[in-house]
Amino acid sequence: MSAKKIINKLKRKEAPKYVDLHLHTTKSDGLLTPEELVKTAYKLKYKTIAITDHDTLEGISEGREAAEKYGIEVIPGSELTAYYYNHEIHILEYFIEPDDKHFLKYLNKFKNARFERAKEMVRLLNKIGIDIDFNEIIKKYDSAALGRPHIARELVEKGYASEMQEAFKNFLVPGKPAYVPKYLIGPREIIQLIRDCNGIPVFAHPYYYFNYEALLKKMVDMGLMGIEVYHTYHPPHLVKKLKSLAKKYNLLITGGSDAHSGPKGKYLPFGNIRLPQIIAKNLRKARKIT
Ligand code: AMP
Ligand code: ZN
Ligand code: FE
Ligand code: FE
Repeated sequence: MSAKKIINKLKRKEAPKYVDLHLHTTKSDGLLTPEELVKTAYKLKYKTIAITDHDTLEGISEGREAAEKYGIEVIPGSELTAYYYNHEIHILEYFIEPDDKHFLKYLNKFKNARFERAKEMVRLLNKIGIDIDFNEIIKKYDSAALGRPHIARELVEKGYASEMQEAFKNFLVPGKPAYVPKYLIGPREIIQLIRDCNGIPVFAHPYYYFNYEALLKKMVDMGLMGIEVYHTYHPPHLVKKLKSLAKKYNLLITGGSDAHSGPKGKYLPFGNIRLPQIIAKNLRKARKIT
């Protein structure tokens, strides 16, 4: 390789350029604060990230402020949960602003329901003799949108499970003693809500679902606009399949790590999904025509 080529390659390497559109912070169940997340994104050479906490937009303004400092971009987003015939479906939303009153009204409903649900999970655990304290948990996590990972971490910390996976498996999944579903709302209502607020609804990590293809078709009829093709847990053959489905239904292609921790965290690490700018560009373009 010529010297010029090497220099150009290094230059390209240095400039932040990557995209990750699925990231969690301490505002829901991630381990990095929005500021830490943005700083990490900058270090890992990301140019565009979306903060997509569960049921909250509270991390967006802090993320944006930090992003300005580092010269990178934060796309506002969130991850909502719908229920469909007893199955949980995650739907990502992009571009709804954190001061959107109509959307906030729903988020508050969901967040309050999460609080009550966490309380109920702890009550059910106490009932089977597990000694953890709800007040201690809420003190630790401040005003975060509480979820099963917070309870799982507490179970690990108090010695009731050796790791998060085990806590989930033994206590927190359907059929286990402390499983409590979230606020019950269907995908049609969620997709409608997102579109009413001028956001872009995207089917998150379809690999989670046994019958994702049928589900996708249903959600396309409900107004879905995109599909998360790239995700930490999507192997290459699935990416290929999802790409062809995106084409078939004329959907936007998105993707992200779904990181809940930093680059070295074992709980969905940040840095392994590095998408090109065209993904973010297409998303922005779609926003203008909705
Ligand atoms: P929640 O929204 O409270 O139901 O919690 C969902 C979160 O729990 C997701 O962000 C997942 O990353 C995490 N999660 C779900 N199942 C498991 C599991 N078996 N082990 C570890 N984390 C899980
Ligand atoms: Zn999460
Ligand atoms: Fe999810
Ligand atoms: Fe997620």
